[in-house]
Amino acid sequence: MKCPSLPYHWAVVGAGPAGIAAVGKLIDYGIPPQAIAWLDPEFKVGDFGTKWKQVSSNTKVKLFTKFYESCQAFQYTSVNENFNITHADPEDTCLLDLAAAPLRWITDKLKNEVQAIQEKVQHLKLIDKSWRLTLDNEEIYAKNVILATGAEPKSLSFPNLQEIPLETALDPDKLMHTCHHEDCIAIFGSSHSAIIIIKTLIEECSIKKIINFYLEPLRYAVYFDDWILFDDTGLKGKTAEWARKNIDHIPSEKLERMISNEENIRLTLPSCNKVIYATGFQKRLVPVDGMQTLEYNDNNGIIAPGLFGLGIAFPEAKRDRYGTLEYRVGLWKFMEYLNQVMPIWLKYGI
Ligand SMILES: Cc1cc2nc3c(=O)[nH]c(=O)nc-3n(C[C@H](O)[C@H](O)[C@H](O)COP(=O)(O)OP(=O)(O)OC[C@H]3O[C@@H](n4cnc5c(N)ncnc54)[C@H](O)[C@@H]3O)c2cc1C
Repeated sequence: MKCPSLPYHWAVVGAGPAGIAAVGKLIDYGIPPQAIAWLDPEFKVGDFGTKWKQVSSNTKVKLFTKFYESCQAFQYTSVNENFNITHADPEDTCLLDLAAAPLRWITDKLKNEVQAIQEKVQHLKLIDKSWRLTLDNEEIYAKNVILATGAEPKSLSFPNLQEIPLETALDPDKLMHTCHHEDCIAIFGSSHSAIIIIKTLIEECSIKKIINFYLEPLRYAVYFDDWILFDDTGLKGKTAEWARKNIDHIPSEKLERMISNEENIRLTLPSCNKVIYATGFQKRLVPVDGMQTLEYNDNNGIIAPGLFGLGIAFPEAKRDRYGTLEYRVGLWKFMEYLNQVMPIWLKYGI
């Protein structure tokens, strides 16, 4: 452990894709690896590498490859492993498990270079020009901290219904084992996750009925030469193909879709016995002394001097060329954003 007079230059909290990108870029920018503390209770590529493994990606394979190759510190171009993703069509999507395999390899490589600490950060406090990070069993200090701590699914908590957690619903095997043929299942949401779950319920689970409560019509990403309409909110890949055919064209008899308003919920929800909330994500909070919520600047990731946010918990806000505001979430987007903000963060320390 370092003493307060010898704090780490940087601490990166979280070892999901965003934490991996942050550690790689710090090394690429010349921060000595021994001066970087990297903290995570598991080091298993975050929720991306554990909870969403069986999810079909909304990103093309070529963007995952671009991510692996974009940091020199990853040393991915010298890899000898035969990852399955290298045999996939670069223009196609893939299971996230395939995309996570090289990230596990990169994690192990980086862990050997920086000071990897397998613990959860419980609390942060600014003391004498350094951030004190309170861990389960010790305290460390760092001049600068990047929070890449991920996000939790939001829940709506309707009483009297058995909730199927999103993590279970997005794993076909687990979902099948949770369902019974008499079930009427309510799903809130109409995003990528919601449509994947509806597809699994219709095609792989023998249940009586699905009622999908949604706020907005389905939205599809449209690819142009140099930009993508609804890049962050539109359905993509196999999920989009399936929705066009099976929801917009000839919907399954098992599926009923309705606007999520008070009346529809009052009249229809009582006929359901189980519920799945696919209604978005909220940042996982790390208590920081003197801050109630972790507000951040969504154009540069700054939370406070020497404290920065990255990843799904602190996404970049960007307007497309027609003024639509979207929050940019995805591996390659985290990397592009880092390229932009890292020079600022390096000068915005304490
Ligand atoms: C269903 C789904 C599908 C997605 N599909 C794609 C896709 O196809 N392509 C794509 O590019 N993106 C996709 N994403 C978006 C995004 O890439 C993932 O959400 C990704 O997991 C976000 O990475 P992250 O590092 O921000 O968070 P996470 O992967 O959640 O990692 C956060 C890490 O922080 C750690 N942590 C949390 N709190 C603490 C603490 N206090 N101390 C220490 N460590 C802590 C956690 O243990 C975890 O390891 C998808 C997201 C979801 C939800």
